[in-house]
Amino acid sequence: MSTTSRAIATPRIDARARRARTTRSTRARASTEDDGPATSRRAATLRNEGAYAVLEKVAALERRSDAKGAKRVLRLEIGQPGFATPARVCDAAVRAIEGGETKYAAPSGAPRLREAVAEYLVRTRGVAYEAENVVVGPGAKPGLFLPTLACCDPGDEVVYPDPGFPTYAAMCAAAGATPRPVPLRSDGASFDMAALEASVNEKTKMIVINSPGNPTGGVMPREDVAAVARLAKKFNCWVMSDEIYSRLIYDDEEEGGENDEKIFSICALDGMKERTILVDGFSKTYCMTGWRLGWVACPKHLAEKIKLLTVHSVGCVAAFTQIAGVEALTGPQDSVKAMRDEYRVRRDFVVDALNDIPGISCPVPKGAFYAFPSFDFPDVTAQELADYLLEDARVALLPGTDFGAAGERHLRLSYVGELSDLREAMARIKTSLAKRFPDFV
Ligand code: PMP
Repeated sequence: MSTTSRAIATPRIDARARRARTTRSTRARASTEDDGPATSRRAATLRNEGAYAVLEKVAALERRSDAKGAKRVLRLEIGQPGFATPARVCDAAVRAIEGGETKYAAPSGAPRLREAVAEYLVRTRGVAYEAENVVVGPGAKPGLFLPTLACCDPGDEVVYPDPGFPTYAAMCAAAGATPRPVPLRSDGASFDMAALEASVNEKTKMIVINSPGNPTGGVMPREDVAAVARLAKKFNCWVMSDEIYSRLIYDDEEEGGENDEKIFSICALDGMKERTILVDGFSKTYCMTGWRLGWVACPKHLAEKIKLLTVHSVGCVAAFTQIAGVEALTGPQDSVKAMRDEYRVRRDFVVDALNDIPGISCPVPKGAFYAFPSFDFPDVTAQELADYLLEDARVALLPGTDFGAAGERHLRLSYVGELSDLREAMARIKTSLAKRFPDFV
């Protein structure tokens, strides 16, 4: 069985090492006097998440052009469901506050919510999880970050998709682990499996998979998931399965049907439950991004370490939010299906509209709510193209490179907005591109 981090020996820092450290930090320090001591080398590799950086750009653009009565910026950069949190969930939170549920909660999560999550996992993944396997956190992100800190030491390698969700690189940086981004195949559905095989070795401590994936919307074929499981068992490493979009699969003939909630997860494969770190939450499925509520399910010995990291970092999650979470998981699920049906319509529209633009081509994503088209225009980077479209078309979207080097020559659009806005955005993008690249017809 995999183990959590090896115990760290007490460091013996001799005078020479101390001098060397001081020299390094002095060199790393920025030039102005009032900067104070330097930050760590780990912190130096952290980057902002593109979607948050664009928020600032859009705000600046809107401030500059307010007075001129310029066109509204259409927001296709953000991975934020366009629907409201179901009323029954909001009501449960209000009742909880009124009932005095405003105190500290248990660090691993309220027992009722941990039990509800375990039951949900049994119901959806068909795997026997118990409340003790579950740790609740403020969003799914701590479910990525804290297990990485608990499992990886400096020198350990972490394999993750490129392009992939930017937190994967950041959590490696924070843990001091070595990042091993692996390129995706051209339709973005899965790893380039040959590249994956070549990247996993004795040093690999964790393989991250994300299906359906951000930024491509790709859904991994089952045989690729099985290949990841084989590699993880062969090299005795963890698999972190980020399943935050698991309820947003549009075309899988094997899923849905009678049991709309059935989800294929790597944890269900033979010998995988004990090495899977399953991350999911409420943000996408129940349109609860701002509530900050998610969970991780894993072996109990790792759950204990994640609990300790939670105690010392965030303490616990608000009690009334957790009660809303119980309602989300146990109440009627029709809002999930209604939302998925609507996103499917938006996806079909956006993908067709993108493929109708000369110089752009977009595979059909089977899940999540992102399109990840590639472009053929010469002498322009993804970042320059995204900046141009923000300035000229007033459409905010993200360059593929916000998700890793392999995202060059791609853009990421989120189709969570109203169909009327998406229609307008596609028309503006087409006009601006035709203006800038008149040779593409
Ligand atoms: N994983 C992926 C792939 C995501 O896209 C996101 C959010 N955009 C998260 C995790 C984080 O989810 P949360 O907001 O619940 O922390």
